[in-house]
Amino acid sequence: MGKTILKFLRGSDVEKQYHETVYSMMITDALTGIPNRRFLKEFLDRELTRAHRHKRPLSVAIIDLDHFKAVNDQYGHLAGDVVLREVSNRIRGSIRRDEVFARYGGEEFAMVLPESNLQQAASFSERVRLLVSRLPVSVDASRIPVTVSIGIAHTLGEELTPDELFARADKKLYQAKAAGRNRVVWQ
Ligand code: GH3
Ligand code: MG
Ligand code: MG
Repeated sequence: MGKTILKFLRGSDVEKQYHETVYSMMITDALTGIPNRRFLKEFLDRELTRAHRHKRPLSVAIIDLDHFKAVNDQYGHLAGDVVLREVSNRIRGSIRRDEVFARYGGEEFAMVLPESNLQQAASFSERVRLLVSRLPVSVDASRIPVTVSIGIAHTLGEELTPDELFARADKKLYQAKAAGRNRVVWQ
């Protein structure tokens, strides 16, 4: 009898749902509700293996909010959180099912774009940049202007680790910052 009940509970929907909830918490960013860095890395790792095996293109983009420290300083950390959520909401609707948009770090997001060449990744990132900057973010009575800088890296199936590809994108991001921010750099 005891064994039967245990068996019943083990295979139950309750247990399945518990595991699904725990897994989903592990891979989701609590502030924005989008995938976190852990999921992003796992996804990119799989996609890089596939791109390498089939010699397919793949692009990644790192999106960093410009002068975000000043937003926190001027409007407060809670307003900063609202801005992060709103920026994430503006972008997530444009992401296709086979792509990933994730919170990469504090005020940095990243996109993995399988099957995108450099040109396609650059024009999509330009759309993302405009989506963010087009309207200021309203927090209480304040209207907070927000811009992002974006760095893109690309592979055509060469053997690479996620960290190597992100390091390349990060270099481009640095160039975008140095060139005046609110821009996309891909070459
Ligand atoms: P840059 O244009 O060079 O990127 O300047 P920046 O001010 O955006 O960059 P910096 O790295 O100096 O500052 C990042 C700021 O992002 C500092 C940190 O407090 C803030 N930040 C990181 N994570 C969060 C968060 O979850 N919420 C809020 N409100 N702020 C955050
Ligand atoms: Mg940053
Ligand atoms: Mg920043």
